Amino acid sequence: MKVQAAVFRKAGEPLVVEEVELRKPQAGEILVKIRASGICHSDISVQNGTMPIPPPMVLGHEGAGEVVEVGEGVTSVAVGDHVILNNVPECGKCPQCHNPRTNLCIESGRNVLTTPVLRNSKYRPFFKTAEGKDATTLMTAGTFATHSLIDAHTVTPIPKDIPFEEAALIACGVITGIGSTHYAAHVSPGSSVAVFGIGSVGLNVIQGAKIAGATVILALDILDSKEAVARQFGATHFINPSKLEGATLHSKIAEILGGSIFVDFAFEATGNTGVLQTAVSIVHPLSGEVVAVGIPHFTSETKFPGPTFSLGRTLRGVLFGNAKSITVTKQIVEWYKAGKIQVKPLITHRLTLQEVNKGMELLAKGEAVRPVILFD
Ligand SMILES: [Zn+2]
Ligand SMILES: [Zn+2]
Repeated sequence: MKVQAAVFRKAGEPLVVEEVELRKPQAGEILVKIRASGICHSDISVQNGTMPIPPPMVLGHEGAGEVVEVGEGVTSVAVGDHVILNNVPECGKCPQCHNPRTNLCIESGRNVLTTPVLRNSKYRPFFKTAEGKDATTLMTAGTFATHSLIDAHTVTPIPKDIPFEEAALIACGVITGIGSTHYAAHVSPGSSVAVFGIGSVGLNVIQGAKIAGATVILALDILDSKEAVARQFGATHFINPSKLEGATLHSKIAEILGGSIFVDFAFEATGNTGVLQTAVSIVHPLSGEVVAVGIPHFTSETKFPGPTFSLGRTLRGVLFGNAKSITVTKQIVEWYKAGKIQVKPLITHRLTLQEVNKGMELLAKGEAVRPVILFD
């Protein structure tokens, strides 16, 4: 079928909204009519060349929609179901689905980040451009498109009363932030947490830390305008690290904690390697945990002083919050319905697919938390 999609054609250039061909769902796959898609920093990282990925690619990986066709053998979802399009599968059967240390199911082949390390998994393109070339997708689906294919074990069915625009954001920003606090760092009650970068992911780290019972949640961003929204999501303190005015981050932390110059947990959600170094330097040298959530430029490098980790401090990475995709999405939907987490305030702009480049610009400039593309 012919569908409209926003296609990455050349690094540094705007996406092109054009007609592409989408094949029929094969066994185990479903066809989803996309109803909403958030725009994420990772989409910008492909568009501007930070992630050096060959075009053409249908971007968008934070979507929700309605199942309109199912392939052979699909029983877990039916036509008419509303679903969140997850970014990693959860087949529930493979060794990795049974391994509590990773969320990357062996079936994660529709994901250009994991395909190179999951050799059993094959990327099967499903979009073709007008000139007949395969267009890949960054993650499992291309959600900057009116329709997309996805494997049935990579979607989470949701109640029909959840607005698509809010459901969409759970697929990346929400699960990444909340997952990082629960399934990567295991934030504990009474702990102190620092969050660098107050975008959608950072705000979700904040609300994840709050659910986990952290009592000090320090938000850090170089834009003062982020303070109000950070506090709305549960931050107890805010620091603009570009305006320390003679103080140091350690002395500011000592003021907040009443003595200690170190926090228990830090989350780096900017993708800047210099910020990652700072995050590591402010967690406790004996027990502090840092999670590198943001994805840095692929050619960048990071250095730490030799003894940085010698006493027990740890640094780890995550992809989508190290959260088992369907299991944790269901948990997040429960928290959402119970009013424990907020999603709507993340949405700062509502756009059409034709306006995708405007949304990318707003996000890149820090003027938007989440621009969302809405489809009819
Ligand atoms: Zn994302
Ligand atoms: Zn699996």
